[in-house]
Amino acid sequence: MLKGKALVFSAPSGSGKTTIVRHLLSVRPDLKFSVSATTRPPREYEMDGEDYHFLSRKDFEDKISRKELLEWEEVYDGIYYGTLRSEVTRIHDQGYHVVFDVDVVGGANIKKTFGDGVLAVFIKVGSIESLIARLKGRGTETEESLKMRVEKAQQELQYEKLFDVTLINEDLDHALKQAETIVSNYLDN
Ligand code: ADP
Ligand code: 5GP
Repeated sequence: MLKGKALVFSAPSGSGKTTIVRHLLSVRPDLKFSVSATTRPPREYEMDGEDYHFLSRKDFEDKISRKELLEWEEVYDGIYYGTLRSEVTRIHDQGYHVVFDVDVVGGANIKKTFGDGVLAVFIKVGSIESLIARLKGRGTETEESLKMRVEKAQQELQYEKLFDVTLINEDLDHALKQAETIVSNYLDN
């Protein structure tokens, strides 16, 4: 049982989830981002404690054994990602609604755990070609990690049906407005 409301955004990597979630956080002061833990190295522009809690594999495994994670996964081979229970409690205790940005399996698990306590939004691009173009454009992937993310994206699309709403991110301005409407329908009504 959650104390406040919760929104989960999931999408195949490169679909624009971070862009959409950041926008929502900037226009909705009643939302706070649940900072996940991960064992992947930070990207140049990422800050520890803001984008992720960047942990060693040992520290992450200690958190698993102490049951400090609400859900966790080895999203890519050898790389863990997980939602810290402490983030959810902290955000709800401060009176905010919590926003999760997790992969599609994590999103489906959170939806299963919290049911009506969470609105689960699946974000996708119109085609695999635009997904590849975006991942290349972001400049964060090697040829190998790009291939891995694209292959995984094709499997991840199967999870869409477990979510409450789908948001198509083609024209960005349109997608951002649609995201605001989805959130407002859930939180303000
Ligand atoms: P994710 O968090 O789902 O991996 P990002 O938000 O990092 O995706 O977006 C991937 C890349 O695509 C980024 O470089 C971002 O600026 C760009 N992007 C996001 N939405 C759009 C859009 N509608 N049209 C074109 N490029 C976009
Ligand atoms: P990235 O490395 O691009 O930041 O994230 C890779 C994937 O891991 C994305 O789909 C992202 O949503 C997901 N992810 C981030 N945090 C979590 C988390 O706490 N749990 C799960 N299951 N996935 C996460």
